[in-house]
Amino acid sequence: MQHLSDSAQYVKGVGPQRLKLFHRCGIFTVGDLLYYFPRRYEDRSCIKAISKVNIGDFETVQGEIRTLGIRSTKSKLNIFQLAVSDGTGVIYATWFNQNYLKKFFKVGDKIILSGKVRLFRTLQMNSPDYEIISDDSEKIHSGRIVPIYPLTQNLNQRLFRKIAKEVVDEYSHLAKDILPADIKQSDGLIDIKQAIKNIHFPQNFFQQKRARERLVFDEFFILQVGIALRRHYLKKSFTGRKKQETVKKDLAQEFKKIFPFTFTAAQQKVIKEIEKDIAGEQPMNRLIQGDVGSGKTVIAIYALLLALERGYQGAFMAPTAILAEQHYFTLQKILLPLNINIGLLISELSPKTKAEVLKKISGGEIDIIIGTHSLIQKDAQYKNLGLVVIDEQHKFGVQQRAELGKKGARPHCLIMSATPIPRTLALTVYGDLDISLIDELPSGRQSISTYWLKEKKREGLYNFIREEIKKGRQAYIVYPLIEKSEKIELKNAEEHFEYLKEIFADLNLGLLHGRMGKEEKDEVMRRFSGKEKPHIDILVSTTVIEVGLDIPNASIMVIEDAEHFGLSQLHQLRGRIGRGSFKSYCFLLANPKTEEGVKRLNSIVRSQDGFQIAEDDLQQRGVGEFFGQRQHGLPELRIGDILKDVKIMERAKVFADELVQKDYCLSLPEHQLIKQELRERLGDRWGLVSVG
Ligand code: ADP
Ligand code: MG
Repeated sequence: MQHLSDSAQYVKGVGPQRLKLFHRCGIFTVGDLLYYFPRRYEDRSCIKAISKVNIGDFETVQGEIRTLGIRSTKSKLNIFQLAVSDGTGVIYATWFNQNYLKKFFKVGDKIILSGKVRLFRTLQMNSPDYEIISDDSEKIHSGRIVPIYPLTQNLNQRLFRKIAKEVVDEYSHLAKDILPADIKQSDGLIDIKQAIKNIHFPQNFFQQKRARERLVFDEFFILQVGIALRRHYLKKSFTGRKKQETVKKDLAQEFKKIFPFTFTAAQQKVIKEIEKDIAGEQPMNRLIQGDVGSGKTVIAIYALLLALERGYQGAFMAPTAILAEQHYFTLQKILLPLNINIGLLISELSPKTKAEVLKKISGGEIDIIIGTHSLIQKDAQYKNLGLVVIDEQHKFGVQQRAELGKKGARPHCLIMSATPIPRTLALTVYGDLDISLIDELPSGRQSISTYWLKEKKREGLYNFIREEIKKGRQAYIVYPLIEKSEKIELKNAEEHFEYLKEIFADLNLGLLHGRMGKEEKDEVMRRFSGKEKPHIDILVSTTVIEVGLDIPNASIMVIEDAEHFGLSQLHQLRGRIGRGSFKSYCFLLANPKTEEGVKRLNSIVRSQDGFQIAEDDLQQRGVGEFFGQRQHGLPELRIGDILKDVKIMERAKVFADELVQKDYCLSLPEHQLIKQELRERLGDRWGLVSVG
């Protein structure tokens, strides 16, 4: 009996040696081989007359071997050569130092050759792919659409292709058809066995496309069933919220009155959505997407007040201590008239202060607690946590949300991000989130002018900065490094701080980086944000200021060695300016050595739209790097493309939701294979409640 779980060594042509090489590609079983899909294809189906081939092009020709032989060159190179004729012309196939090939060919054989055509006295192909035609065997390597596999060194395409063919012929009948017939039918999907055959060895590209569609659907469908099940069990395990009496006075309405601006229409819309969520019985799970400066913080404050009104505590988590402290000051200031107890919990606190804060949190003396990762550490116990706000969520992993969620009896959750997530992720990892969009900036904002400068413009730049500061503005100058490094040749903040102090001797400069002590950092921030004198005009810094900081009077951002930063990072850094009514300027000092560097700089100069930039970033870096595996938390996909296959994902979701609604135990006979596949593919990854 054959099984997909048989060792790959059962396949003809696979010995212990090759098996080891296969392991490096993650191939252990026959099934692994069957589901090891081509990376791309070469169309070698169009056979040309030798007289018609284009020199320099990749061509496929067919003819008869007229002569063959080995000769040596002066430089001791052995050349094995075939002369092939098709009646219209002769072409020579040559291989260097591969004399063993000789035994595979004889004069009179019919042969197909695929390769790049060169003219070197005669028409030639170097190391072409070849296929000797015998009447009864199917062509594999040439004269057809040929699969090209993603392989490691020491495994060649020809060999692998032969093995793939063997596996497809011998084992594809074992491929499991997990889809119930009605789904297949209503979605017009092809048979799985056919799909496996055609993904490896399609007759034409239409077949290949249909095959891929089926396989991607299967992959996404399992994923969506997993998500639907998780959602189902979460809902079921939630017993509902106590009737949420308003216990405090109308805090949120009061806040509306004291907020110095009127909310934008987009802010109002989002606030309505949150009000509805928080009044409901289910815990809120909402993602707020809004570009830098769109005013997400007030939304957070508003939501926190809604929780407070109902007698809950609220937590507000930020990725950096500096940002947490800023939020702490902002909330203290703006909420002063409302008489609310606000606390700060960051790891930099002295042990004594920290212990006090923790006690106040568990005792319920603090209403709103603002902090960093410290909020989710073990020692943080809440009296009555009802809402969790996570700011700049793209800086955290998906895990953080779960951790904070465990701190209360399923608290409401509000997640804020300036980085848009692609639709596919919204349908998967973030599948349980409702999404709100702030698609509008507060009025009165001016666009930011962004310039990419070369070194020789530095002096002019310094003069410009001085002029703007004379008008009352402030500036950031950001460096990639804190201090001089032996290994990396990039500018550092400490050294340049000394140098800039001389250049701007008449102005106040401050230095800020992550390795400074809390007291020092706090003082610099207070002085830069105008809370304490003497004011700082120019803040020399590292990327500690990347996210969230809000100093509306700062209108100049200078980024040194800008090519060193990622696209989203540059956008965030630039987002520190243009937050008030002043005309703002961003200067990128850069001398990129790579094409990607140039691309990034062009993207950032060209666009100020965070969504556009995120799109560019995704294109330039790919999903893996953009989100990081940990971040997006999806299982590795075998064939589906998270960006390109959104349509298929949407369809898979519809069917998966339906199925789970009908049979959430997966107990029906037609769902047994789904259950099995679910276990194999997703395993414990999602803490899926063991089904059935
Ligand atoms: P982000 O979305 O980047 O977190 P913030 O919440 O920090 O943005 O807001 C950026 C700036 O815009 C802050 O100074 C804030 O006070 C101001 N702001 C927020 N909402 C409005 C509004 N409706 N009208 C005018 N200014 C606003
Ligand atoms: Mg913010």
